[in-house]
Amino acid sequence: MKLKVMWITLLSVVLLIACGKPEYKSYDDYPVYEGTDLELTYTPQASSFRVWSPAADQVKLFLYDDGLDGPAVQVENMKRSEKGTWKLKLDGDLKGKFYTFQVKVGEKWMAETPGMWVKAVGVNGKRAAIIDMNETNPEGWELDRRPPFENPTDAVIYEVHMRDFSISPTSGMKHKGKFLAFTEKGTKNAAGQATGIDHLKELGVTHVHLLPSYDYASIDETKLEENKYNWGYDPLNYNVPEGGYSTDPYDPATRIREFKQMVQALHQAGIRVIMDVVYNHTFTGEDSHLNLLVPGYFYRFNADLTWSNASGCGNETASERPMMRKFIVESVLHWVNEYKVDGFRFDLMGIHDVETMNQVRAALDKVDPSILVYGEGWTAAGSPLPEEQRAVKVNTLKMDGIAVFSDDIRDVLKGNWTNSIPGFVAGTDSLEGALKFAIVGGVEHPQVDASQAVHTKMHYVNHPTQVINYASCHDDMCLVDKLRSRLPEGATEQEVKRFSKLAQTVVFTSQGIPFIYAGEELYRDKKGVNNTYQSPDSINKIYWDQKSTHLDVFEYYRDLIRLRREHPAFRLTTSEMVQQHLKFLDTSATPNVVAYTLNGNVNGDTWRDILVILNGNRKPVKVSIPKNEWDLVAHDGVINLQGMGIVKDTVLMVAPSSASILKK
Ligand code: CA
Repeated sequence: MKLKVMWITLLSVVLLIACGKPEYKSYDDYPVYEGTDLELTYTPQASSFRVWSPAADQVKLFLYDDGLDGPAVQVENMKRSEKGTWKLKLDGDLKGKFYTFQVKVGEKWMAETPGMWVKAVGVNGKRAAIIDMNETNPEGWELDRRPPFENPTDAVIYEVHMRDFSISPTSGMKHKGKFLAFTEKGTKNAAGQATGIDHLKELGVTHVHLLPSYDYASIDETKLEENKYNWGYDPLNYNVPEGGYSTDPYDPATRIREFKQMVQALHQAGIRVIMDVVYNHTFTGEDSHLNLLVPGYFYRFNADLTWSNASGCGNETASERPMMRKFIVESVLHWVNEYKVDGFRFDLMGIHDVETMNQVRAALDKVDPSILVYGEGWTAAGSPLPEEQRAVKVNTLKMDGIAVFSDDIRDVLKGNWTNSIPGFVAGTDSLEGALKFAIVGGVEHPQVDASQAVHTKMHYVNHPTQVINYASCHDDMCLVDKLRSRLPEGATEQEVKRFSKLAQTVVFTSQGIPFIYAGEELYRDKKGVNNTYQSPDSINKIYWDQKSTHLDVFEYYRDLIRLRREHPAFRLTTSEMVQQHLKFLDTSATPNVVAYTLNGNVNGDTWRDILVILNGNRKPVKVSIPKNEWDLVAHDGVINLQGMGIVKDTVLMVAPSSASILKK
């Protein structure tokens, strides 16, 4: 069989060489290249180049001394090879050189490109760099290990932007806005409280989720002194770290080494690292590095041949095409194998197809099944990809081991983003059913009516391990701003603080994977600005002094995280466990209250019985509770896991807009 395949391959190569360019009727006819040596294979003896561009008529390689400017020192024609690839081998040690490819289709020469599989680049990512990856490893890298981690529901995810974390003078960090800020220990704010990585340890998060940190296009790396800001959802080179976050974007090895130093420091602190990956679109369509190699192939088009735009950014990639799928899978593996990244958040995952996401999961499982994969289970606009193939929320049932963001919990807490009505935490009526749906993590449950969910009116996950619970993220307004923008009549700032604590109490006690946006634990606001993707640092940065001015908020978050991490009852891994052990009380006598128990040392919990009462009312309410020798561990905006007093009565007065949690 193998011999036969070899003969056919050889024959087709011979035919290609004899006949020149093959004819393709559609992208589906493009041959698929299975090898893992695309674009550059470097050794000190030789550099081998292989470009996949089936429809090209000619491909050139340009070699440069400089990563940005200056003329080519060598130009070579590449030779047509198997499976739509073009090959060239240059002898000698080319380390330190830069290169680009140029593809001619028909009579048209495309612009030069560093390629799409490129792993090292010069400043601004225009030219690929030839480096020895082994030389980018920081000291002790081979000893680096992922911190222990078992079930997805054990995660506490902290979403942060590179600049927000360190850029403020109050951060006490030296490497402001850089990967290296995460390596700085012992940093403090003016009040002497821990900031930076020490703060993360004190807070107790298990995963740091970095906003886009691959090489993106919107920041000019030659003008970093302008201190421009961008979230980075404008991918340029997927397999390279962003130069603006390194101390020297001109030196191709520096950004790679410093990214690794960041991962290493976080791992040493017991924290795993998640990357935000944006394979769903590129910064530009026509002249992206993908399109300059193989025009059209990597994108979807409408019936009228215009670019389809499910990303809302002008283009959308086509993960269902074999070489795009291969690219996504191998790119993720590159970050795992080269950088020891521990998880991925897929931006607009609904643009990708279910099969690609399942292949990503399968590939990661072979490396380490504890690597997290989650994403936005929606698109930003319509797509030519049929709904049943999209990796959207309603198809999560077909994607085991992959989680989706629950806009259902987010919007029952803060209010539906499609209108301006406040949510459960600010006292809005009749959201009890929607809240129950969120509390069980979206799984089937005998006491939950999915038709009452805020958005997706069906049980869309197999297990609570497939849902990300959050009150806010980088998108839209942050939590405090959103609550302030939808104040119920007469509400005070003190109440906003209550609302925010109640919202996060739901996030951390609900079944699923909790996720917070960096700085929320310091009562962060962004001055009411919506979608701050290019707002200045003054809007986006974390003001670390707020750790002392809002110490009660920090302590509440820290203790909530501790409550969750010490009590596996809140981290159930299967829908069966949730169905059997999570029981809602009948609170119909007290509107805007939801209460439930987790009984019987669930999931090995040291507490036999747990009672959670969530009061959305802006007034105290009397709630009937089961008779027990309860010990109060959360009440009126304070948490004390040692207990704050025994409750033997069958009625408990719950403070306004707050949670009471009791245990036995
Ligand atoms: Ca860049």
